[in-house]
Amino acid sequence: MLHYIKCVMLYAVMKKVEEYALTIETNSPEETFEAGKKLAERISPGQIITLDGDLGVGKTVFTKGFAEGLGIKEPVTSPTFTIVQEYTDGKMPLYHFDAYRVSDPDEMFEIGFEDYLYGSGVCIIEWAALIEELLPKDMIRISINKDNGKGFDYRKIEIQGIDGETAV
Ligand code: ADP
Ligand code: MG
Repeated sequence: MLHYIKCVMLYAVMKKVEEYALTIETNSPEETFEAGKKLAERISPGQIITLDGDLGVGKTVFTKGFAEGLGIKEPVTSPTFTIVQEYTDGKMPLYHFDAYRVSDPDEMFEIGFEDYLYGSGVCIIEWAALIEELLPKDMIRISINKDNGKGFDYRKIEIQGIDGETAV
């Protein structure tokens, strides 16, 4: 009986994850930019978005679109060396992180990571997998992947933690 209940619960959890996921396929940087821009329409302050995928898959391109969707006019540049860049000229503050060069979690605490996470802006974090242990559970997780068989500019963008019905 207990086993049965566990199975039902597991099924419910899986179903929920499925409902809150969506996949977008793009074939140009412009399309990935548009996907980012669209996501911005449905984001609220305090939300945290993670972006994972190899170097050059389009995490920064996606973020640029996302920033434009928030009405940010300042040019968005990769925060690789500074870890975080703040943009405050949009409809809510955007905190853009790049964890690529973070070798010690202390570096994140030194820049006040927790204040950003629980602040009134939206956080978007490139290479989030590298700082996984510092992140909360409730996030929108995005992974971008190439598929060599589908052409040089093909990207598969998988978004979890968002309602697929009203999707991008
Ligand atoms: P990352 O931040 O993941 O390291 P970037 O966004 O800086 O990657 O760079 C992505 C590169 O891939 C850019 O040079 C962009 O022009 C190119 N590109 C080609 N096709 C796509 C696509 N479908 N989506 C996003 N970028 C693409
Ligand atoms: Mg980048």
